[in-house]
Amino acid sequence: MCGIIGYIGKKQALPVLIKGLRRLEYRGYDSAGVAILETDQNKTVIKRIRAVGRIDNLADKIKDEKFVGHVGIAHTRWATHGGVTEENAHPHFGCDDRLAIVHNGIIENYREIKEMLGNSHTYKTETDTEILAHLIESYYQGDLRLAIEKALSFVRGTYALVAIHSDHPDMVVAARLGSPLVVGVNSVDDNDEYFVASDASPILAYTKKVIFLDDNEVLEISNGKMNTFNLKDEIVQKNIEEIEWDESEAQKQGFPHFMLKEIFDQPRVFVDAIRGRYDLKNGISFLGGLNMTEEEMHSINKIILIACGTASYAGMVGKYAFERLAEISTTVEVSSEFRYSDPIVDNKTLVFVLSQSGETADTLAALREAKRKGAFVRGIVNVIGSSIARETDGGTYIHAGPELAVASTKAYTNTVAVLLLYALQFGRLKRTSLVTGERMLKAMLEIPEKMSKILAQSDKIKAIALKYKDCKNMMFIGRGINYPVALEGALKLKEISYIHADAFPGGELKHGHIALLSEDFPIFAIMTKDQLYDKMRSNVEEIKARKAPIILIATEGDESAKNLSEDIIFVPETLELLEPLLNSVALQLFAYHTAVLLGRDVDRPRNLAKSVTVE
Ligand code: GLU
Repeated sequence: MCGIIGYIGKKQALPVLIKGLRRLEYRGYDSAGVAILETDQNKTVIKRIRAVGRIDNLADKIKDEKFVGHVGIAHTRWATHGGVTEENAHPHFGCDDRLAIVHNGIIENYREIKEMLGNSHTYKTETDTEILAHLIESYYQGDLRLAIEKALSFVRGTYALVAIHSDHPDMVVAARLGSPLVVGVNSVDDNDEYFVASDASPILAYTKKVIFLDDNEVLEISNGKMNTFNLKDEIVQKNIEEIEWDESEAQKQGFPHFMLKEIFDQPRVFVDAIRGRYDLKNGISFLGGLNMTEEEMHSINKIILIACGTASYAGMVGKYAFERLAEISTTVEVSSEFRYSDPIVDNKTLVFVLSQSGETADTLAALREAKRKGAFVRGIVNVIGSSIARETDGGTYIHAGPELAVASTKAYTNTVAVLLLYALQFGRLKRTSLVTGERMLKAMLEIPEKMSKILAQSDKIKAIALKYKDCKNMMFIGRGINYPVALEGALKLKEISYIHADAFPGGELKHGHIALLSEDFPIFAIMTKDQLYDKMRSNVEEIKARKAPIILIATEGDESAKNLSEDIIFVPETLELLEPLLNSVALQLFAYHTAVLLGRDVDRPRNLAKSVTVE
């Protein structure tokens, strides 16, 4: 998701910036741009070039230009506000071309800021970022850092921000809240040069000495010196750290695998999935991408969720939510089956197509089929500008950021988050009360902290994985909304550890599967305190009686679970509809540790591809 690189030093900025952007390419983006301070006959101007699509397109455009400046900023954009166009690509200017900024994140109160600025500013883009540029410009009275501090005190949302101004040919100012920024410091021939970037990967070719900017800090680099301030303009002391990572480790931010990094990303990106999409006071959610009038929403009598693999299990969670909150009959269809079936779809049917990559071939074909039959078709995808995003008449990005490990983790939880918000949006139009809506949103806001509590148990989960890693088979069971969680847990385990795993609803065991149980056939049971807790507990008792080893996910405080097994992962309590958001994290960690202990190629498991673009 978006990459920032800034440079100030004795080198020519342009090659450093373009190389830096390429290093950040792995994060995913849809357009790119660069702005450099160029001085000619004592007059400094900002020269800017931007291009839609790949960095090569930008490099092509720059090829015939003359850039000699030593100070500049560059950006790969992952659009959140405003389409993927050259005009919306960063860097952005204020009214005149003297200030340029690059920004990663979302300015939530950009409408309010725009209103506050009144008619005195003219805007050229649809982005939230440009509004921030104008706000800084409005506070600017000769001191760039002060203007930025003032502007940021007013901003709600998240940002990593880097700015330059043509009045200050030897200055870069950066700030962060919520989105990362790393500053590299390098001494060449007694001159210091500085790099400001979204992560260390573009910096490591030059230096391993860095400082990590913290939230609400503003950094000014000018005349070869670097100082950090808080938003009250008080100096903050920062330590220069030496990082040991190489480039690929830097992309993994110190985690041994992308998968583990992505599992740990979840509390943060979950916030991105729901930010700006709900109103707590009124207990409502509003996903603008739905693109339907209230009348059209009322006319819907059937929802179909179409997806493959992990996304289909996220869809199954969505089914519970749509039926419970909105009383709309909902089915989940596997894409490859849907396209060859005789689906009953009409103009009262709403179809959601779910795909992390937005390129899944079967899902695309199913989408076209549903459209042909006259349904409302909306996409829920991660990759901006992907085919599904372009071919649907609306939909929502899940904002999980780039997911590079083949086995999906954060895209799953963020898809569930978006489905829950859609279910609430329909629910509040129909039967769901204000109080229920409010309670659900409050519980969603607590999810990141609760996810972190599960992540903190990673070592404990690893110890459980060590005990079971040599089993040949494993069965996952769950009931109600935790049945899809069991399916997802089994899929995750088989994808990356190659242990055969299946999942069943707890109540189904007696109808056949129980025959498999033995002392070397472990069962992973999700036994959290939902409305089917007692039923699930009876199923676990049946397994215990047959001496199969049991691993449990149980709710914190459920001391009696200890009578059933010694291998328990306790998870914080939440609303039943939200349980999959937490329980899945425990299962992801279990699959991950098992695979690592078995020496598997966790990020690139055999026979699998990240984006399945063939039928
Ligand atoms: N919200 C900004 C935009 O849409 C920044 C997106 C990003 O982080 O790349 O332009």
